[in-house]
Amino acid sequence: MALFTGSFKEFEKYVGPTTNKLITKLGKELKREQKSCQNHQIGGENCGVWKRLDAAHFSSQGRDRKSMIKELLESNFKIEEDIYNVDLDKFIILFEEQHRNKGLSSNLIMLCRQHHARYDLPYKGKNVGFEYEDVEILENYSLLPLLLTDAISEHKSTEIKKSIVKEINELGVTLSNCSYAKFTNKKWQFDIKEDKLKQDLYFVFYNPSDYSFDIGKITEAELDKISMSLKQKEYDDRKAERSFSFDFDGDNYIEKHTQQIVKVIYSNRFEIQTE
Ligand SMILES: [Zn+2]
Repeated sequence: MALFTGSFKEFEKYVGPTTNKLITKLGKELKREQKSCQNHQIGGENCGVWKRLDAAHFSSQGRDRKSMIKELLESNFKIEEDIYNVDLDKFIILFEEQHRNKGLSSNLIMLCRQHHARYDLPYKGKNVGFEYEDVEILENYSLLPLLLTDAISEHKSTEIKKSIVKEINELGVTLSNCSYAKFTNKKWQFDIKEDKLKQDLYFVFYNPSDYSFDIGKITEAELDKISMSLKQKEYDDRKAERSFSFDFDGDNYIEKHTQQIVKVIYSNRFEIQTE
């Protein structure tokens, strides 16, 4: 039996990192139900970001991680003012139970980094005396690669696109609102019919070298602002198109003519799957 005796500040310093690991574990479990940023649940705009989600606490209700730890220490392990005697195994069990009380989604919410930071901002600094930042990064561990078939290994674009759309259909991506390009001549080039630009559009950025891809989103409002600045292609026998040409700067896909940045909402790759 491991025992801790000390102040709240010391507890947070030595045991805090362990609670991070537990939150990551619980977050992975919650992510099976909450697959994208749940910003709309806390009164914000719809977001749709999939990768790098955090398991965030409900700070606005005073249910941040520090307050929840303090509550457990106060009611179970207090021996005198700001001195706690803690059976650590018991604490970990109680901490997990406390998060499962009324369901994980009552105590944690999946948010992207941006919306997590924005949500916590008004409550930062209210819990003084903590030694480190409360960061709970949760990578997309649960994501399985898509099956690499012969057609895909030959880079047949319709097969690749169909397979991707099928996989991420639940994000609202369909064959008619997404466009595909593979990396050639150091860029991704999309030629998209003008009448397709009156909606939120998804861009599949495909890398033939390692069969990986990112899905980026440009909203209808953003398209509206930039579409006149894009190169136009006119044809006699079919509808006019606009050309999008993207660079990748290490963090973002950027359209060369308009400097429009694309928000990446999903990333994955194709791999041969062996059972
Ligand atoms: Zn978000």
